[in-house]
Amino acid sequence: MNIHEYQGKAILKAYGANVSAGYPALTVAEAVEAAKKLPGPLFVVKSQIHAGGRGKGKFKELPADAKGGVRLAFSIDEVEKHAKEMLGNTLVTIQTGEAGKQVNRLYIEDGSDIEKEFYISMLVDRVTGRTAFVVSTEGGMDIEAVAHDTPEKIITFSVDPATGVMPHHGRAVAKALGLSGDLAKQAEVLTGQLYRAFVEKDMAMLEINPLIITKDGKLKCLDAKIGFDSNALYRHPDVMELRDLTEEDHKEIEASKYDLSYVALDGTIGCMVNGAGLAMATMDIIKLYGSEPANFLDVGGGASKEKVTAAFKIITADPNVKGILVNIFGGIMKCDVIAEGVIAAVKDVGLKVPLVVRLEGTNVDLGKKIIRESGLNVIPADDLDDAAQKIVKAVNG
Ligand code: GDP
Ligand code: MG
Repeated sequence: MNIHEYQGKAILKAYGANVSAGYPALTVAEAVEAAKKLPGPLFVVKSQIHAGGRGKGKFKELPADAKGGVRLAFSIDEVEKHAKEMLGNTLVTIQTGEAGKQVNRLYIEDGSDIEKEFYISMLVDRVTGRTAFVVSTEGGMDIEAVAHDTPEKIITFSVDPATGVMPHHGRAVAKALGLSGDLAKQAEVLTGQLYRAFVEKDMAMLEINPLIITKDGKLKCLDAKIGFDSNALYRHPDVMELRDLTEEDHKEIEASKYDLSYVALDGTIGCMVNGAGLAMATMDIIKLYGSEPANFLDVGGGASKEKVTAAFKIITADPNVKGILVNIFGGIMKCDVIAEGVIAAVKDVGLKVPLVVRLEGTNVDLGKKIIRESGLNVIPADDLDDAAQKIVKAVNG
């Protein structure tokens, strides 16, 4: 689960990290009120969307030479002008994809005078199985380009969970950033704060780009991108409250209500599969035969009829879906439960696209019988290969 920059900064601040003063705003009036509470004369008006690259982003509704999604303002009037231009409009950044994201919230911040911009992030490194720091002097800009063109400018190291963060980790960060004296001390303190925030809140990713040195010699987190491990959210009700459903795909929200592992994709063939491995194989084979999956969906092992019905409804509600492939290898999951769920859903919402069903395993004969006797227009398939070819053919004609 991801959160907004201003929410992330509030968490960092609670752990003692240095961030700018600021207030979120949902309306132009609130943006003006926020600016009045700040010292000025420099303000920053920041679009709050769950995507990076906002500064260099473009608003769809504004002329091509209009400013991006992070803007400096030198007066309260200017804050108002920017807020008016940004709120309600669609910001397209390298991370949003072409569709962009509507800006429904702003964050009005006290502007900082920047001496230098750095990069620091934390993530769980799957290779070492540890929490890792990624540090670079090349902040502010596209870190992917730095990683590609000058990888030697990115320093990474991981922390042993048995010891937790140690003073030498702080010194490693300071060294990677080329800091000495008081700034090095600040970097050491910040390293501990970030580590504690990351571990205690079960974050999956924490990215500060840029981390700056201000003109008056202070390290400050000027941006914050934070994602949490969804599997640990149950023990962080405070974090759960930060969820902004308007930022998430409505199909994925619906799926999460039924505890379905569902990821929306861009293709045309809806998939209902049991088991993550089989679901991925199904997506691969759809691609192999020249089409694209509309989603990843693992209904899980012991899914009930209600869960299967909900899953089928989520798939059919996607206007991009031109055909559906149900691919079940019944182990714990029983084929008759799948058949009943599919039929219940079709009775409710109808079936406007071709449906290929491949059932195998526990209660397969009963499952096939239920589908046969339902009178549904189902294309039966014998195996995965056959099923994929049939659905691609049915969709592409
Ligand atoms: P992003 O584009 O989504 O990564 O948004 P950021 O929060 O990183 O802001 C983009 C850029 O705006 C930063 O890299 C800074 O160069 C600039 N910026 C943000 N806040 C301030 C500020 O307080 N003062 C100044 N001078 N520039 C800022
Ligand atoms: Mg940034």
